[in-house]
Amino acid sequence: MAKQTVQDLNVSGKRVIVRVDFNVPIKDGVIKDENRIVQALPTINYLIDKGARIVLLSHLGKVDHKDPTKTDADKAKNNLAPVAKRLGEHVMTRVTFVSETRGAALEAAVKDLKNGEIVVVQNTRYEKGEEKNDPELAKYWASLGDLFVTDAFGSVHRAHASTVGIAQILPSALGFLVEKEVKALSKAVFEPEHPFVAILGGAKVSDKIKVIENLLKVADKVIIGGGMAYTFLKAQGKEIGKSLLEADKIDLAKSFMDQFGDKIVLPVDFMVSAEFSDTCDRKVVDKDHIPADWMGLDIGPKTLELFAKELKGAKTVVWNGPMGVFEMKPFAVGTIGICDVMSKLPGAYTVIGGGDSAAAAIENGYEHGFSHISTGGGASLEFMEGNPLPGIAIIQDK
Ligand code: ADP
Ligand code: MG
Repeated sequence: MAKQTVQDLNVSGKRVIVRVDFNVPIKDGVIKDENRIVQALPTINYLIDKGARIVLLSHLGKVDHKDPTKTDADKAKNNLAPVAKRLGEHVMTRVTFVSETRGAALEAAVKDLKNGEIVVVQNTRYEKGEEKNDPELAKYWASLGDLFVTDAFGSVHRAHASTVGIAQILPSALGFLVEKEVKALSKAVFEPEHPFVAILGGAKVSDKIKVIENLLKVADKVIIGGGMAYTFLKAQGKEIGKSLLEADKIDLAKSFMDQFGDKIVLPVDFMVSAEFSDTCDRKVVDKDHIPADWMGLDIGPKTLELFAKELKGAKTVVWNGPMGVFEMKPFAVGTIGICDVMSKLPGAYTVIGGGDSAAAAIENGYEHGFSHISTGGGASLEFMEGNPLPGIAIIQDK
């Protein structure tokens, strides 16, 4: 059933708590990338226009509550103040930042809100109970609002007080960003037009077991590259040198190949390097000739050709995980190659889900080369596992 969206709510004059994802990279108090703030603007501006009294909640970074010597330093590092300030530069209304997550100052600021104004609450992770979905904390935050809107796609896979707890108490709806993500990812994962090809890469098989399992079920082909490919090669009895290996996942890789051998496409050549470095010797070798003391850090040119052939004619393509160690230029070739091939597929619906793959595509100029680039790394990954995400499941149906 479809979930309520912010447009289904009567928000005028109401206190609307919006869980946003303002978890932006900050260095020495300076915001390095404001994309997540920008992505939240459609919902925020809609609420401003409709005269809602807006209370924004977001986490920022991590706060260690186990080791008390770290707690204060983490809080200082992950203070949401600069984010509230930056938000103020994007909206035409008063933005008040409250440097605490509860208490008289927060309650007064909310009470003081006029229609169309915004209060930004301090980093939700200042609270120990946030990540445990502590019911007392959720109840307190819920008391600050009349309605709840979730627009933090990057956090909907986590059942926290600010993502799930408040929604258990207040009438709730999806914001525009979450609605857009759910539509785009559902179209690819739940109602794909065939042929449907999935490309998986990245570091580890273990991070992605459930994604591989689900995509093997629903896709016509599953292309495997990146660091995880070597565990599959090892399972075929090949020499993989010093390449990334998860020895305890060899049997799993074997069983995937036994069950879905006709769907799985593996690399046929690699860019190998003597060390994990972009300055030492490197060369292209075929899959049967990885030297015992070298490591594979990217797919090779024949592999790119093979993958391009498999992608030809696809109507839906989902990609998660870079093909190589793209952070080092000489090993970014395969990942950039996939961006290029995907962005030129005629008539295909193309989606990237995965933080590093999305970053690689955007960094290399392919921001507009895809039908959808998800803003939620972990959330899009869990979405591709085919399971409901707690922060979406809890939202009221229409
Ligand atoms: P995503 O965030 O898109 O889901 P992952 O987090 O799973 O992707 O993986 C990204 C990481 O995988 C990158 O840091 C990249 O360097 C690494 N990686 C890719 N290929 C290899 C490889 N051959 N050897 C080691 N690491 C790799
Ligand atoms: Mg990642």
